[in-house]
Amino acid sequence: MRVLMIAPPGAGKGTQGALIAAHFGIPHIATGDLLRDHVARRTDLGLAVQEYLDRGELVPDQVVLDMVREAIVAAKAAGGGYVLDGIPRNMQQARATYLIARELGMTADVALHLVADDAEVTRRLLARAALEHRSDDTAEVIAQRLALYHQVTSPILCWYRDRGILVSVDAMQPVQQVSRDILAALDAMRPLLDHGAARAGHHGDLVTLAEAFGVAGAAADPS
Ligand code: ADP
Repeated sequence: MRVLMIAPPGAGKGTQGALIAAHFGIPHIATGDLLRDHVARRTDLGLAVQEYLDRGELVPDQVVLDMVREAIVAAKAAGGGYVLDGIPRNMQQARATYLIARELGMTADVALHLVADDAEVTRRLLARAALEHRSDDTAEVIAQRLALYHQVTSPILCWYRDRGILVSVDAMQPVQQVSRDILAALDAMRPLLDHGAARAGHHGDLVTLAEAFGVAGAAADPS
């Protein structure tokens, strides 16, 4: 199972991503966690990205794409599944992630959209701020992260809808109900994936997606 998650901050990507990973026995690749780990360890990369995280801005695409390539290579060696959490976050990243995954024969089977409104996610993030002290969980930075989500991240949903792999789940419900809905939706897709039908069935859609992304020769290799 290869899943990528698209959701506003505070919708529960981290919680649900960990649960999906545990359920299917696949790696959870969370770009925010990887970046925060670099910041905590004060690596060169961490020092370079800290200001972006503190301001709620996106770090340069190449930084996260390099991380993700490495993580997808490791996921391939570990059995071929993954849950991507935090990437792609804009159209360039969607295109680049698709190309990296295609090159590795590891394109996503499902794009999971967690749906939650601004008022709810703001409430959750402010509640988390009181407990966890994440540098970007202040009212001002939360507003910036949400604005970025609406401007540059949510427009990529249509690519996955066109490809026929978008699944939306109501993330405003209690956390356990969201988990149940996600696992039900993913389990429902499993037989399709196991029999390769999804891939064959999406061939035309993949060509469309590849054309939209400006990829030549995708028709010959829809992996
Ligand atoms: P949230 O979704 O709650 O904002 P994340 O942990 O996913 O939390 O991301 C935290 C921060 O890490 C982002 O605000 C951004 O600065 C950085 N980040 C994470 N993923 C990416 C990405 N794909 N591209 C650019 N920046 C990223």
